[in-house]
Amino acid sequence: MQTIDYRSDTVSHPTPVMREAMAAAPVGDDVYGDDPTVNQLEAEAAELLGKEAALFVTSGTQGNLIALLVHCGRGDEAILGDKAHTFVYEAGGLAALGGIIPHTVPVHPDGTLALDDIRRAIRGDNVHFPRTKLVSIENTQGTVGGMPLDVAYTESVAEIARQHGLKFHIDGARIFNAAAHFGVPARELVAPADSMTFCLSKGLCAPAGSILVGSRAFISEARRARKMLGGGLRQAGILAAAGLISIREMIHRIPEDHANACILGEGLAALPHLRVDLSRIKTNFVFFDLLESAPLTPDELVTRLESDYDILMRPYPGFKATFRAVTHYWITPERIQSTVEAMRALLS
Ligand SMILES: *Cc1c(COP(=O)(O)O)cnc(C)c1O
Repeated sequence: MQTIDYRSDTVSHPTPVMREAMAAAPVGDDVYGDDPTVNQLEAEAAELLGKEAALFVTSGTQGNLIALLVHCGRGDEAILGDKAHTFVYEAGGLAALGGIIPHTVPVHPDGTLALDDIRRAIRGDNVHFPRTKLVSIENTQGTVGGMPLDVAYTESVAEIARQHGLKFHIDGARIFNAAAHFGVPARELVAPADSMTFCLSKGLCAPAGSILVGSRAFISEARRARKMLGGGLRQAGILAAAGLISIREMIHRIPEDHANACILGEGLAALPHLRVDLSRIKTNFVFFDLLESAPLTPDELVTRLESDYDILMRPYPGFKATFRAVTHYWITPERIQSTVEAMRALLS
């Protein structure tokens, strides 16, 4: 990657090792269960997350949708955050395709849903009400800054779910970022969940794909739902080969992305006309505001960074002057240094 691309960690290209593994991957028809590379990835992912089984899915969106379709029927209600990816950024799939009612509760700045809000959102047994079937949390919680949720909080949500007979799903698109932040194995963060999805294609650098994990019975139903959604791929081992490198070799380096986010945040905080809250950099997201006093507008900053320096950085969707910069494998300390220099030049 020549361009320095901070728009998301989804932009991370597969590494050279991944491309070699993809070229050499043994493959078969995965809908028949015949692809040895996919089978290997699913087995290793289940083991890694401490669950009975795993399913390779086309995207995180598909993984979350499959989980909701398996756990909930039409007219059932799912409790989730009002800033949850599944509520805001998945094209309403749960309602459109599952007839599932999202019951949102506020996401707090630390990424949590208040436990009392979850309790209050659970419906009683009454003929008028939809049935509450599931509670879902997001770890890390993206929209508020990639906030990691710890084991104790996750356990508290699980306890509420258990008390009320609800299923518990975790959108763990960046679960390894949360694990790295707390220095715990990801399996501890997902132990009490009935299902969890994580992305191979973000910080873990694979070109495409996510993993859904859960019990053997859950994954067997999920496989059927994946087929229904058009997610039954054939020689998917070409993609799974990169995913195997993701889980074998990319997880342990995630702390570098967090250290780099701090380097970027500190570099930007020292520049005029920017406001950075360093205390909110917990994982690989850096949010900063371009102040009114700046010599150029947010749009001009975006354009100049791109045209003069080949640096891609964008305001966060829905905000005018609040930028989100995401660190990943291809954002090195050297590249951060040149980014800060470019910003200094543009802002002075
Ligand atoms: C990226 C992401 C997803 C899944 O996105 P896809 O682009 O469909 O893979 C789900 N949840 C969160 C929190 C995400 O950041």
